[in-house]
Order: sequence, then C-alpha cells, then structure tokens
Amino acid sequence: TSRVRGKDAGGRIGLKIHNIIAVGSGKGGVGKSTVAAALACGLHSFGCKVGLMDADVYGPSIPHMLGAGGQPGATEQQGGEGQKVMRMEPIDVDGMKLMSMGFFIEQGQSVVWRGPMLHKALTQFLKDTQWGELDYLIIDLPPGTGDVSLTLSQQVGLAGAVIVCTPQQVALLDAIKAVDMYQKVNVPVLGFVENMTGDIFGRGGAKKVAEELKLPFLGEVPIDACIREYGDAGKMMALLQEENSARDSLRAVCQNV
Ligand code: ADP
Repeated sequence: TSRVRGKDAGGRIGLKIHNIIAVGSGKGGVGKSTVAAALACGLHSFGCKVGLMDADVYGPSIPHMLGAGGQPGATEQQGGEGQKVMRMEPIDVDGMKLMSMGFFIEQGQSVVWRGPMLHKALTQFLKDTQWGELDYLIIDLPPGTGDVSLTLSQQVGLAGAVIVCTPQQVALLDAIKAVDMYQKVNVPVLGFVENMTGDIFGRGGAKKVAEELKLPFLGEVPIDACIREYGDAGKMMALLQEENSARDSLRAVCQNV
C-alpha cells in the first residue's frame, strides 16, 4: 500500500480492479497460499476493497482456510455484440470476494494441467468473475509457474508478484529461479516474504537473497502453530483481526506490499 501502482490494471478486459498482485513460490509447501490469504485478509482489514483468486489448481486450499463453502452462483449478463454471457459470482467472506478453481474441481481429484490450458483457464476465470470494483485482487498462483504471470500481465496488467519462500537453502534456490522466471517475462517482482522463520528452517536467508538480488524484503513470518491452527480451522480472516501471536508479523507484510 505504500507504493503507487498503475491504475485500472484490469481495465483491458473490462474489470474495475486497480492493483492485481500475484503471489508465487518456487516450490510447494512453503506457505504461499497462507501468505496470499493473509495478504488479502490484511488489506481487507485495513479497509480496502479486496478480492482473492485461488488459482493454485494443484492444491486449491484457500476456501478451506477461509471457511468458505458452497458453490459460486452464476448470472446471465449482456455481453458485447448482443450476446448473453454467464458471469460467476464470487463467494463473500466477511465482505471480501473469493473465487477458487477448487470450487470447480471435485474433492480428492487430481488435475493435470498443461501450460497453455492453465494460461487460458486463468484468464477466463478472472474475466468471467463478477469482481465489481476492487482496490486489490490477490492471485494465489500454482507453485513454480512464474510464466503464468506473463499471460496475466499481458492480458490484464499485473502490478507485480510477491515471492514466498522459507529460509532454507533449497527453498531459496527455487525462489531465485522463480525470480528469474518473472524477470524474463517482465513481471515486476514486488519482493520476498520469508515464511516459517524460526529454529527449524533458520532465519534471514530470504532477506539476504533479497539484498543480493536488489529486491525489496517484505517481511518475515515466524513458524507459529497459531497460523496452522487458524488456517486449518477456516479462520484466516480472524487471524488478521484477533489478538494472537502471528497477527503483527502478517500485518507488517501487508503494509510493506
Ligand atoms: P503452499 O501454498 O506453499 O503449498 P500452504 O500455505 O498450503 O503452502 O501451507 C502449508 C502448510 O503449512 C499449511 O498447513 C499451513 O497452515 C502451514 N503454514 C504455513 N505457514 C506457516 C507458518 N508461518 N507457521 C506455521 N504453519 C504454517
């Protein structure tokens, strides 16, 4: 929120969204979805109009983290050239708008997505959702798919990507690869979030890499049972609002983005 970004990012495809931010990671399991959900909930708690799009087709976990069930409704609308188009209505989570690929994938089923299919599905999904006017749309990308952001960038205009990693060496190497991928496709990297900082994985690795790559460091989130518990219980929105041990570090990340 501290930096000025391009206005009307989604304007190219008729969306009224000011800033579209992708959240990515080099590898899975580093807490990308947790950080994406916390970022959206945090910005929402600051009073911004926020949407969250869970595009992690390989593990769409965000509806669970937010305790959002049910199926999004659809309404028929007037499209261009007199055609009627179906638009999906996002699920409302305390006033925040949520859409997930998970709503359309049967539980327990795996999905095999080839690159071009994923690119097309994502843009379509974004376009066909009735987001209304938003200050921020946070997109949780599948891990290791920085190139998907290229499609989003070209078609909707992306403010940039936030990269989540843990402080351990293997995760950092993958995060560096992810940065390279984003930079190759000219998607601005907004910075690194170091997640699960603490005794188990170490501390400060992501900050050091951010400095070496001359990219902003957006903050560290400690490994904290409270984060897992709130996530598992579908209470991510409450995590950012209630008194708890993780709230301040997560809110600091939201402010830095
Ligand atoms: P990814 O999207 O990168 O695969 P998730 O966000 O799904 O990762 O997180 C994987 C698991 O780790 C989840 O059970 C989540 O609750 C937990 N987790 C994520 N970040 C933290 C943290 N900082 N402290 C404790 N548990 C965390």
